[in-house]
Amino acid sequence: MTPFPSQTQTAIDFAADLFRQAKHAVSLTGAGLSTPSGIPDFRSTGTGLWSRDEPLEVASLSTFRTAPERFYEWFRPLASQIYHAQPNPAHLSLAELEKAGRIHSILTQNIDMLHQKAGSQTVIEMHGTMRTLTCTQCYYQMEAALHLDKFVENGKIPCCSKCGNILKPDVILFGEQLPQAAWFKAQREARQCDLMLVVGSSLEVLPVAGLPMQALDHGAHLVIINNAQTYLNVRADVVILEDAAVIIPAIAEKVFNG
Ligand SMILES: [Zn+2]
Repeated sequence: MTPFPSQTQTAIDFAADLFRQAKHAVSLTGAGLSTPSGIPDFRSTGTGLWSRDEPLEVASLSTFRTAPERFYEWFRPLASQIYHAQPNPAHLSLAELEKAGRIHSILTQNIDMLHQKAGSQTVIEMHGTMRTLTCTQCYYQMEAALHLDKFVENGKIPCCSKCGNILKPDVILFGEQLPQAAWFKAQREARQCDLMLVVGSSLEVLPVAGLPMQALDHGAHLVIINNAQTYLNVRADVVILEDAAVIIPAIAEKVFNG
């Protein structure tokens, strides 16, 4: 591994120190964590796959209700990418930190299940998940794998096996409320933690973007690893403007081996 510039190394060392001192560390993760795994950040504009499809409109609850076939057409390549994606070194290091008792929980904006694939146990999915689907009519919930595999293959919109109505992936669309149980848990973690590690989130999407502020207000330390600025960089103890897949493993290594 090539050595980091001394400023970056100092920041990594400081972040590792904060981890060693923390009694209740949590990590808040966003799309930037999964881009090294090949999953596009569909909320940021002008990036490849999504620029032409205006996700704000097509990935909204109102489009799903009025024209689910438009939503599913847009969703198909994303679903395919997510199913084939593998966790990257940052996901794996976060899972190791959790296993070693250094991270209490992961609060994620991602719907891609990569934390679970990496072995993380306590994952609070604030924007929902690709793991399950729910019927829009009878609310029967089922595992997505069977249905979505077929959909990715042949483009046939998945329907409820009980009543035949259209199934909706349990991901939170624009204009949709966050899942309440997950959101309450996330807020509790933000208030109780003494260290919050923000990874790959530009903290632009409310209400999740407010969680680090809640942590700061309760006296927690804040570390931000993201390749773009966030509104809280001025208040963070450590900011590293680099690729999480490189930096998180370096921090974990330092936590474990000093
Ligand atoms: Zn149904």
